[in-house]
Amino acid sequence: MMLQHRLLLRQIRKHLGPDAVIPESWAPLLQAVDEAYLQFDSDRKLAERAMQLSSDELVAAGRKLEEQYTRNLEVLNRLRSSVAALRPADLAGTARAEDDLLTVAHLLEDLIARRREAEVAMLQATATAEAANRAKSEFLANISHEIRTPMNAIIGMGSLLLDLSLEPEQREYVETIRNSADALLEIINDILDFSKIEAGRLELEAHPFDLRVALEQVLDLFASPCAEKNIELGLYLAAGLPDLVVADSTRLRQVLVNLVGNAVKFTAQGGITVSVTTCPAETGWQLTFVVEDTGIGIPADRMDRLFKSFSQVDSSTTRRYGGSGLGLAISQKLVELMGGQIQVTSAPGLGSSFRFTINAGSATPPVAEDGAEPPAAVELAGHRVLVVDDNEVNRRILEQQLQS
Ligand code: ADP
Repeated sequence: MMLQHRLLLRQIRKHLGPDAVIPESWAPLLQAVDEAYLQFDSDRKLAERAMQLSSDELVAAGRKLEEQYTRNLEVLNRLRSSVAALRPADLAGTARAEDDLLTVAHLLEDLIARRREAEVAMLQATATAEAANRAKSEFLANISHEIRTPMNAIIGMGSLLLDLSLEPEQREYVETIRNSADALLEIINDILDFSKIEAGRLELEAHPFDLRVALEQVLDLFASPCAEKNIELGLYLAAGLPDLVVADSTRLRQVLVNLVGNAVKFTAQGGITVSVTTCPAETGWQLTFVVEDTGIGIPADRMDRLFKSFSQVDSSTTRRYGGSGLGLAISQKLVELMGGQIQVTSAPGLGSSFRFTINAGSATPPVAEDGAEPPAAVELAGHRVLVVDDNEVNRRILEQQLQS
C-alpha cells in the first residue's frame, strides 16, 4: 500500500509505532483517506490562488470548488460507512486496534470540518467579490450618460470650430482635440458597454434588417484604411442567405466592426475576408460569420487571454497598436447574448480566423403598398461572365457569388 500524504503517514506512525504493519483490511480505507487528504491540499491551494485572482476568476473558482465539495462529500460519506462496516475480526492481532480505528475516524471528522471551514470562507469571498463586481458595474452603467454628454459636447463643438476659418496653427490644435476626443470616446464606450453587460443591463433589440446591406456598411467603414495599407478586403455571402433577418443589427455590427477592425489593425500585407453562411435553426436562422486575416497571428500560449477583459496579447501591443483590450471581451458577451459562440484559430505569422454564430429570426419582405411583388433578382443563369481583378481572394469571392 502506497500512502503519500505526510500528515497521514505521521499519524499512523504515531499511533501504530514506526514499524507497525497495517492490517490488510485497512488498505482501501487508508488509501481513500490518503486521497481525500491530497484532494484537500489541492483545494486549499486553489482557494489560496483564488484570493489573488480577479473577481471574475474568483467567481469561476468558487463554482468549481462548490462542485468539488459535493463530490468530496460523497467520498467522505463512503469513507464513513466503510469505517462503520469494519468488523472486529478485521482488527484482530492489532493490540490498539480499536483506538486506531477511532483515530482514523477522528482524522476523517477533522478533515470534514477543516474542508467545510475552507469552503465557507471561499464561498463568502466569492459572494463578496460578486457583490462588489455588480456594484462597480452598476455604478458605471448609471453614470454612463453623465460621462458621454460632455464628451459629445467636446466633439460637437470641436467639429463646429473646424468649420470656421482658422489659422493653420489653430486648426492643428483643434484637430488634435477632435482626434483625441474621438479616441477617448471609443474607450469610454467600450468600458461603459462592458459594465452594462456585466451588470446585466444590456437588452437586445430584435428588428428586421437587410443582412447584405448591414455587412456592406461595416465593410465600407474599412475600405479606406485597407486601401491606405494596400491590403484587400473581401465579403463572401454564401448562397441561400436570407434577405431579411430579425436580430439586433446594432450589436451584430458592433461585433463585426471590432473583429474586422482588429484584422485590419494587425494585418500589414495580404488581406481580410469576411464570409457569412447560414443554416435553418429553431429561431429561424443560425448565421455563421468568419473574419479571416493574413496578419501577425496570435501565439498558441496567448489564446486563452484573448477574450479576457482588459487584456492584450502582449504589453507592447498597446504601445504599437493602441486599444483597450476590451473589444473581444465585449464581442464574446454580445455573441453569447445573441445565442451564439465565438472561436478563434490562428497561426503566428500567417494570420487569424475569428468565427462566431448568432441566432436570428426570419422575416418576410414587406409587400409594396400597391401589392406589387418586390423586384426579382436579375436573371443571370446561362450567361458567361468574365471576372477581372488582380486579387485572387476577390476573384474567388466574385466567382462564388456569381455562381450562386
Ligand atoms: P484591443 O482593443 O486592444 O484591440 P481586443 O479585445 O479587441 O482589444 O483584442 C485583444 C488583443 O487580441 C489585441 O490587443 C491583440 O493583441 C489580439 N488580437 C485581436 N485580434 C487579432 C488579430 N486579428 N490578429 C492578431 N492579434 C489579434
